[in-house]
Amino acid sequence: ELPMIYAVTPTYTRYVQKAELTRISQTLALVPNVHWILVEDSDEKTDLVRNLIADSNLLVTHLNTKTPVIEKLGDKDPRWKKHRGVTQRNAGLKWLRSNLELNKDKGVVYFMDDDNTYSTKLFKEIAKVKKVGVWPVGLVGGLNAETLILDQHTGKVVGYRSGWKADRKFAIDMAGFAINLDLILSKPEAQFSYEMEKGFQESEFLSYFTSKEELEPLADNCTKVYVWHTRTEKPVVKGIVPGLEV
Ligand code: UDP
Ligand code: MN
Repeated sequence: ELPMIYAVTPTYTRYVQKAELTRISQTLALVPNVHWILVEDSDEKTDLVRNLIADSNLLVTHLNTKTPVIEKLGDKDPRWKKHRGVTQRNAGLKWLRSNLELNKDKGVVYFMDDDNTYSTKLFKEIAKVKKVGVWPVGLVGGLNAETLILDQHTGKVVGYRSGWKADRKFAIDMAGFAINLDLILSKPEAQFSYEMEKGFQESEFLSYFTSKEELEPLADNCTKVYVWHTRTEKPVVKGIVPGLEV
């Protein structure tokens, strides 16, 4: 029996939001065992997201929580300047911990940003996670892909191939790991934080749960790329056609 995959997705209002959410919701429609926890970065739930959920036929929990104004990326700021999705991922964690029960509910938790590109094959890998599973992520960290370095004999993770601070305790992108629900529920203090150094969210969060030696390399011993850290160009919009939800 397949474990439930809890996919936690922070999302925020901008021109490309519906396009992004359409893309990933239709990927999720091809995954039989998924519960989508979609967390809007807003004070109120929006009709756009409500409509998209209603159209999706997916099992969805719709939440909202706004990023504190001082933590929000300004329009002209470079993206590394602020943490993104912190408040929303924490709201997802809080929902899991308040609604699911250790030793009763079984599943795996995956942080699924709304702008990445996901193969349906990734979800077959996520379903295999016993504690913490890891795999390569395409188009990130200044490389064509970030990946794990495995010991040739033992097959265990011994290091990271990343173009950016490969000496982090866990040099793994948010899209490159998933955590068993049991672990998430048994460490209720584990969450993301604005206090963490920029670029260290993943590393510090994973440190609550595991060690490098324990990581479970998936995706054919990390030889396959099933997720890409794509980014969507911000469109230039010079006019608004009224009466259309875009
Ligand atoms: N996000 C958000 N509020 C924001 C900016 C981003 O909820 O103000 C979400 C975004 O939709 C995505 C995640 O946080 O799911 C990561 O953001 P982004 O893709 O911009 O970051 P990057 O990939 O550059 O780390
Ligand atoms: Mn992104």
